[in-house]
Amino acid sequence: MSKTGMERLKELEKDVYKCIHCKACRFAYSGEPDRKGIGEFTGKQGTVLYEGMVDACPAGIEHGWEAFWNAGKIWIARSILSGDLEFTEEVRDVIMPCITCGQCAAQCENKIRTVDIIEALRAACKEAGVPMIERHQLVERLTKELNNPYGGKAEERFKWAKDAGLEKYIDNKGAKIGYYVGCTASYRQIEIAIATCKIFEDLGIDFTLIRDEVCCGSPFFRVGAVDTAQELMNKNIEAFKGLEFAFFSCAGCYKTFTNDYPKWMEGGKLPFKTMHAFELVSRLITAEKIKFKPNKELKGKVVTYHDPCHLGRHMALEMEQEIIAESKNLMMDSRKIRQVINEWYEVPRIVLRQLEQDVGIKFTEMYRIKLDSFCCGAGGGVRAGYAEFSLKTSSLRLDEANAIGADIITTECPFCWRNLYDANEQFGHGLTVYGLLEMIDTFKLLDIKEKPTLEEILKMKE
Ligand code: SF4
Ligand code: SF4
Repeated sequence: MSKTGMERLKELEKDVYKCIHCKACRFAYSGEPDRKGIGEFTGKQGTVLYEGMVDACPAGIEHGWEAFWNAGKIWIARSILSGDLEFTEEVRDVIMPCITCGQCAAQCENKIRTVDIIEALRAACKEAGVPMIERHQLVERLTKELNNPYGGKAEERFKWAKDAGLEKYIDNKGAKIGYYVGCTASYRQIEIAIATCKIFEDLGIDFTLIRDEVCCGSPFFRVGAVDTAQELMNKNIEAFKGLEFAFFSCAGCYKTFTNDYPKWMEGGKLPFKTMHAFELVSRLITAEKIKFKPNKELKGKVVTYHDPCHLGRHMALEMEQEIIAESKNLMMDSRKIRQVINEWYEVPRIVLRQLEQDVGIKFTEMYRIKLDSFCCGAGGGVRAGYAEFSLKTSSLRLDEANAIGADIITTECPFCWRNLYDANEQFGHGLTVYGLLEMIDTFKLLDIKEKPTLEEILKMKE
């Protein structure tokens, strides 16, 4: 299944030539264009939030000139394919500061797979002998040595579990359900890992943490170091192969296992099912097995939700591409695409509406949501490679939370959490940042009416 970046770019040639350079991918609509007053709001960096269409490509907003917007990158891909341009460090420095957020793919009416093109371009650039930027080289070196990009010792990957009294779940023999924690929740945002385990424990789920889990490889698929990504993928598949079901609490890890691994692995099919943990909570609410308890501290708080790009847009666009690939009449199937995407974006909102009903929070959506959601700035190797740009982008997202008077911003990804938290501190947005499950665990909100059986869980995602 291993293909070079140039081979992948050639496979995407039709997409590249479908680009008419209209630049519609530069903008995204507000989710509620008739909402009044938001045009008067000025953000921390002096940005005024408008009603209607606004710039939505973080790379273009940051650099401001043609090549950095998506349309410019597609033009670079076309020039590489036609032989009019060669890979150089200058080309690398234009195609790398892109968060691979997929906003451009979501906005493109021609359904061009822009992120696939950008990732193939980056891999081809590296294969052409152009070195990765130093920060990415460092992250790759650390991961090759220690199996994680943070420089944490392998034996300390599950230290948080031991400290939180969850040691019995490490290599819990006989469990059919696994929890892939990922590097950020293992070495940085341990609150997310602990909350996820405690919710599983409260629900009576017999699960295992796998001692041999390693980085999912997402950063390396994104920046073009595909060999490293595949090595990590193979280690994880070997470590998790005895399980029937794997849960995730990180948007990037979930997307990488679910969407990327099958494209790169032998046989093209994972030997276990995958699900993000918040989806389990959402499904149990719908099945009326769980509710939430009232909470005085949270009552009346304005709570908003940030859709992680990897969880929302990337998964949604993959579903769209699958329908397109099988469609005999795209006009007829466009309604199905809208329905499938809407259902997917409703999953976390089911949790937030139940919290509103039971706990008394005021769930309020931000200015741009769902497919039009603005990125937190962390992905695509940008947080590691271009920290200042990454945090400025995150601050723009937090402006949208401030504009609707939010007290708390929730999300379902430890990597988004980290960037939103750091930008909140640096730019003084005055918000509280929570993972959705972290908030549920911190305030002990879970009100369990009936625990799910193992069979019920294993049948999910059929
Ligand atoms: S990628 Fe799509 S929206 Fe963007 S310029 Fe090309 S055709 Fe237009
Ligand atoms: S993936 Fe995101 S940052 Fe990259 S070009 Fe598209 S909209 Fe811009």
